[in-house]
Amino acid sequence: YNHLSHGRVSAVNKTNYEVIAESGLLLCELTGNLLYGRSLFELPCTGDWVIFQPLDDSKGIIVDILPRKHTLYRRKSGTISERQAIASYVDKAFIVQSLDANFNVRRTERFMAQVLEEDIQPVLILTKSDLEFNRHQVDGSLKHISRQMPVFFTSILSPGTILPVRKFIKPGESIVLVGSSGVGKSSLINALCERAVLPTSEISQSSGKGRHTSTRREMVLMDDSGVLIDTPGVREFGLALDNPEALADMFDVADFAASCRFKDCTHVNEPGCAVIEAVNNGVLEEEVYSSYLKLRKESWYFSTSEHEKR
Ligand code: GDP
Ligand code: ZN
Repeated sequence: YNHLSHGRVSAVNKTNYEVIAESGLLLCELTGNLLYGRSLFELPCTGDWVIFQPLDDSKGIIVDILPRKHTLYRRKSGTISERQAIASYVDKAFIVQSLDANFNVRRTERFMAQVLEEDIQPVLILTKSDLEFNRHQVDGSLKHISRQMPVFFTSILSPGTILPVRKFIKPGESIVLVGSSGVGKSSLINALCERAVLPTSEISQSSGKGRHTSTRREMVLMDDSGVLIDTPGVREFGLALDNPEALADMFDVADFAASCRFKDCTHVNEPGCAVIEAVNNGVLEEEVYSSYLKLRKESWYFSTSEHEKR
């Protein structure tokens, strides 16, 4: 073991991992005892730091995974309570949506809740601003979101909209990009790097969905700036919150909840609920309150079944 080295996972393939190390890019497999007796979510994800034993210049064996920090999780699709790590050691999450039919406030809130739980800074990137969209409507639905995170309008057709985003990335920061396929994540990465580093997907006319079917995650190192992590396989995003109660803080519900008559008030129909009173008085926006309840319900099953297992 005198040749152990360390590196960062830059892509997850079906049977192996790409690892960026000082010596260059290596293709690594997992050592047996890391494979067994571990939950799926403990397997390496893009962004993880790992210890590996080099076999030659281009191959190695991962023997250990360093403790995770600032990890973006989601509920594994098709499960109720299984967690899947998407990226770790992430500083900022670019929540990418296009200003066409894709724009969806609830989806933004879902990403927001998940990244805030891990102390990752959420940033909303609204792409394809060259297309026609209803600015008034978009601004209206962004009111409570823009209190929580910066919002950028971008178009790859106008470099002036990309520059502020590039300036927002500090040297050495890791940025994960999340969003449905076809919203322009690869195009944005290429524009931020000022060169084509990722292939962009053609939109199939019939479905409107991109043809990206790979589940690989791609890490792109910007020249003397940050590290961008694309998530091409992540289409659906289910909440995997450990603590749905924390949603109250995100939606400003906590400010009122302190004055509820019952300490364990769920703010649904209890007498003396200060949250419901705030909605009735118009102090708390009705949309914000209903978003809070919906997200809490979505993540409830996840958190309860997780706790039952413990
Ligand atoms: P991804 O699946 O999220 O990586 O999306 P892509 O980057 O592959 O882009 C999907 C489609 O949207 C491609 O046809 C792009 O040319 C197009 N696209 C991306 N950004 C923009 C933009 O700012 N404006 C317009 N009009 N089209 C864009
Ligand atoms: Zn209450």
